[in-house]
Amino acid sequence: MYENSSAKLKMVKKLSECFKIESGTEQGHPLSPELFKCYIHELSQRLNNVQGIETPLLNKTNVTHLLWADDLVMLALSRDSLQRMINELYSFCAEWGLEVNIKKTAVLVFNASGRKLLESASLLYGSMVIPSVREYCYLGTTFSISGSMKTNQAQLRMKGLRAYFSLKNSIDITSIDKTAILKLHDSLILPVVSYGCQVWLPRTQLMKCLTEDYKKADKEVLSAIARDPMENLHLSLLKWTLGVRKRTANIPIWGDSGRCPIGTQMIKLLVDFHNRLVLLDDANSTHIVRHAFIEQVNLGLEWYTSTKVLCDRFDRGATRNLREGSNYPTPNSKLIKSRVEDWFKTKWNQAKKSSSKLTFYNSVKDDLSLEPYVKLKNHKRVKTIAWLRTSSHRLNVETGRYGSKNSVIHHRVCDFCSTGDKDTLELLFSLPNAEPIIEDEEHFIRDCPQYEQLRDERSSILKGLLETGDFKEIFNKYNIFETSNFVYKLFKYRFGSS
Ligand SMILES: [Zn+2]
Repeated sequence: MYENSSAKLKMVKKLSECFKIESGTEQGHPLSPELFKCYIHELSQRLNNVQGIETPLLNKTNVTHLLWADDLVMLALSRDSLQRMINELYSFCAEWGLEVNIKKTAVLVFNASGRKLLESASLLYGSMVIPSVREYCYLGTTFSISGSMKTNQAQLRMKGLRAYFSLKNSIDITSIDKTAILKLHDSLILPVVSYGCQVWLPRTQLMKCLTEDYKKADKEVLSAIARDPMENLHLSLLKWTLGVRKRTANIPIWGDSGRCPIGTQMIKLLVDFHNRLVLLDDANSTHIVRHAFIEQVNLGLEWYTSTKVLCDRFDRGATRNLREGSNYPTPNSKLIKSRVEDWFKTKWNQAKKSSSKLTFYNSVKDDLSLEPYVKLKNHKRVKTIAWLRTSSHRLNVETGRYGSKNSVIHHRVCDFCSTGDKDTLELLFSLPNAEPIIEDEEHFIRDCPQYEQLRDERSSILKGLLETGDFKEIFNKYNIFETSNFVYKLFKYRFGSS
């Protein structure tokens, strides 16, 4: 059947001349995978039968190699053992006319020091030297010489960043529905940055906050979560979507977009994965991943212990209702995810209330849920409302905070309503009951006489709400359209064109 095997190359719209296929199986032919398996199966057996080699033990089972389609990893505990396995591979390939792509081949000697050790040098495939490396990417996950997952995280973030930039370039932020951007994030960026999270999530800040007895304040827990490379990317996208600056506080960003950290979505994947391993154990499977699971349990390694604490904390019932014949509970992943979200919302709420910078935000926001203004069609209006609510603006209350101006009150007073002269102000504040007129959000939208005419133009409903100080109400879905128009004009008056 392979006698007349041929193919054509398709480039843009042109087809090449027909050429013969001299090696390998046919691309896309239904029999190809089966034929390939017939060949490769023997390699697996031969590697398992190499005599006198030391290989890692997982749950009393020797693991000589991992094979995924044609991606091969050989594992050994000594240089000599590895060389013997490479020799076996070499003779197998010579017998069957297969070729190893030596450019994609490398030796990695794991060790705690993180240095390339001498024994990793000059291993040979035939007469070719196999390069020794510090990290290697197998099936999309980068393994580092020290066993750390940091490089892997950095690379996933890079991939996520690329997906983010291509998303940014291909949509028009001024005309797209903002909730569509959030959906695009979840279908284009989230799968990229969460790749392999079933394995690495237990090492993230979010999991540490969830499983360790954290004595830290809520605010610090939130900053730790925000520093995670993947969450950091998520927050950047949210800030871009809302049209606010990068340095805007994170609390109102999670709050107004109604989004929890993306790690909470990965929690479900982690627990589902854990449960699959438990079921493999129940079935006494010989699958290698089940052996790895038992080994994690027996040695009390981080992945297992931390996943266990998470499950015990967020689904206690599962431990009590252990299924018959099973050694481990299978917690409810959906329940855990939603409880972790509730945990985050509580932390978010406490941190919000204790923040001195978020005075205005606290007066307009109770729960972490999508704000009606995010759905407004006009991007400029979404932006101006986001500026006002998140204090991502240049009103003096904010600009007066920066640099050496910090704590000097005369930089924060309203330019229209108060003198900016330092000495006069100091004299004034030495009098009893004298309050400075700070240009803050409340003063800006309700009190400052400078914008009286803009207020007069508004409907009686909005005017009423402003007068009574019902700021929460001006942002609800019935009033947000008019409020956004009003706030847009206020900013335009105050700072010129936006
Ligand atoms: Zn004023």
